[in-house]
Amino acid sequence: MMTAVRLIGKQSLEVQSVAVPQIEDDELLLRVRSGFICGTDLRMYKNGHAHTQGAGGLTLGHEVAGEIAAVGRAVSRYSEGMRVTIDPNIGCGVCDVCVSGNTQMCPDLRALGIHIDGGFAEYVRIPRQAVQQGNVAVIPENVSFDEAALAEPLSCVLNAAERCATQPGDIVLVVGAGPIGLMHGRIQRMFGAGMILVHDINEQRLQACREREPQFVTIGPDELDTAVAQYSGGKGVDVCITAAPSPEAQQRGLELLALNGRLMLFGGLPKDRQNVLFNSNLIHYKQLIVSGTTRQNLRQYRACIDFIAKGIVTVSDIITHRFALEDAERAFDDAAAGTGLKLGFSVGGQ
Ligand SMILES: [Zn+2]
Ligand SMILES: [Zn+2]
Repeated sequence: MMTAVRLIGKQSLEVQSVAVPQIEDDELLLRVRSGFICGTDLRMYKNGHAHTQGAGGLTLGHEVAGEIAAVGRAVSRYSEGMRVTIDPNIGCGVCDVCVSGNTQMCPDLRALGIHIDGGFAEYVRIPRQAVQQGNVAVIPENVSFDEAALAEPLSCVLNAAERCATQPGDIVLVVGAGPIGLMHGRIQRMFGAGMILVHDINEQRLQACREREPQFVTIGPDELDTAVAQYSGGKGVDVCITAAPSPEAQQRGLELLALNGRLMLFGGLPKDRQNVLFNSNLIHYKQLIVSGTTRQNLRQYRACIDFIAKGIVTVSDIITHRFALEDAERAFDDAAAGTGLKLGFSVGGQ
């Protein structure tokens, strides 16, 4: 038996003792060492989720790393004891979308911790498609389990950055100073941004951002217009990334962009607020590009593990709280309350 954090329904989380998953010949069993809570987990906790119906709910967790505990007989390349991390988005592997390299957008997507049992548990089963398509990535020696687990959110951020067309010296505004906002700032710097402005209404988060990145310019509520005008010499920002579920942030982004600016809608909106009113003439007369991204492809996932290993992007200082699986409810409540930055689980001792 093993411990698993199961979502039973809306606002209902249970730490259960369940059977260790059985694997087929073409699958792997991962012994989890590290797992982090993300906004998706919190939304599923808050609202409930379609895939929690049925026998005893769904094990959450899609930002995970650990070591291989068992290898199916038909599996090559992977062996017991290997330190690995998993891109949780598992495509069918044969549809046109998957073959185009976008398995994460597959209409039959099965994501760990979202459609099938995830990694907030002592063990997680890695299905055949994940093993065969390269979702399982070996962790370089100098990368910890914690850092490896954060390759997942970091690669979502990289996906966004690749569409921002950031040029050397660009002024970039990131709306949202949480862990994801910090990752956006760091990836944008890697892409050559000359100045990173980070806006939030939460002073604690701005403070946490300043402590980690003194070069980022943090902007509180009511200061956004003046700060953007001041730092851009009245031109506006070249790139605006909205990393907050806020329609207002999306509207403001269009207004704050410079000529030929790019607006990246990274944070999705709540279903009841998804219709946003905006002045389309801003897009027309300023020649703006508006884009959005979700998830990441396998190339971007592997690239982020490499960035972490090479020290190009730091993620370890974004982790502020670690919990045992048994304390899952407290971990989720703290995360939902906006405590700290990245909260997660340490499993089985590191
Ligand atoms: Zn996530
Ligand atoms: Zn597919």
